[in-house]
Amino acid sequence: MSRYWSSLVEQLDPYVPGEQPRVQNLIKLNTNEHPYGPSARVIAAIAAANNDSLRLYPDPTSLELRQVIASRFKLTAEHVFVGNGSDEVLAHVFHALLKHDAPVVFPDISYSFYPVYCGLYQMQFRTVPLDENLCLDVEDYIPDTGDKASAHAQTGGIIFPNPNAPTGRGLELAQIEKVVAANPDVVVVIDEAYVDFGAESAASLIAQYPNLLVVHTLSKSRSLAGLRVGYALGHPDLVQGLDRVKNSFNSYPLDRLAQAGAIAAIQDEDHFERSRQAVIRTREQLTLDLGLLGFEVLPSQANFIFARHPTLAGEQLASMLRAKNILVRHFKTLRIADYVRITIGTDEQCGQLLEACKEILL
Ligand code: PMP
Repeated sequence: MSRYWSSLVEQLDPYVPGEQPRVQNLIKLNTNEHPYGPSARVIAAIAAANNDSLRLYPDPTSLELRQVIASRFKLTAEHVFVGNGSDEVLAHVFHALLKHDAPVVFPDISYSFYPVYCGLYQMQFRTVPLDENLCLDVEDYIPDTGDKASAHAQTGGIIFPNPNAPTGRGLELAQIEKVVAANPDVVVVIDEAYVDFGAESAASLIAQYPNLLVVHTLSKSRSLAGLRVGYALGHPDLVQGLDRVKNSFNSYPLDRLAQAGAIAAIQDEDHFERSRQAVIRTREQLTLDLGLLGFEVLPSQANFIFARHPTLAGEQLASMLRAKNILVRHFKTLRIADYVRITIGTDEQCGQLLEACKEILL
């Protein structure tokens, strides 16, 4: 607290990211980073951009990057908005596209940044409980047909991740489409941070639905959490709304190195395909192996798994693993306090995690 703070700052309840340890030699399975490095073409592109031209501002519109992203999804650059990580993209989405005079709707167990943005922009929100299996039931997001006008009036927009975080559970495209089609008067945002690890993107629906916005990041499947690049795909009207906020905030969210690296990353389909398949294979093996140790592991379509053991509380397990130099993520939230979220590491790291779990459970 400081007497120099604004009244807004006093009220904020900021997001706390997973620990980024300063000590070496920890097995870091707590923030859903990719275990393998980015494409060599990314490193080369950043090296090539690392020259005297850094004295100049970057392209404020990141046009070339937006064109490269657009062509991958058979869209145009007018359908693409880019930002400094998808967290920044999401912040602008809350500011620009979700209504401020009706509650924004999202699941009770979901990305914990959503309520933080609502706090920052002084927006109301309503959470919808996941079912007892921690699955999202899309029927909960369909307004009652008899009461359509009032149901819409009460909703400022809908946002959820697919696959959901931190559960890893995904929805089928037809389910997503149902939500988008049933809520034509508000924007439906699908946060696809983890989609490349086994779920289906809703990007293919963008031409049909002007109220659909899909958000992606290069932090996960492109192995570039350190570069800070995220993007949104949607109708050009939505992108223009985002641009208005971005251009009232920071004209140059992506620097020259980030733009160069991101272009190379999107263009290297081979590296993308190989490295995401490696993570998927390890995830399936780790799910089986933890199951043999008595863990209940939710089926995951992401680069992490959400697991609990009948004899150990989540917090206890996380701290016992920490004592063995393995970081996993635990959330104190009531319904999921039994679980830990484990990022898929290399095969070797996952082997070490398994050994540590065996020792703890002995
Ligand atoms: N959405 C979800 C669901 C996430 O888990 C994360 C990562 N914390 C993000 C968005 C943001 O990722 P980034 O800002 O690195 O793009």
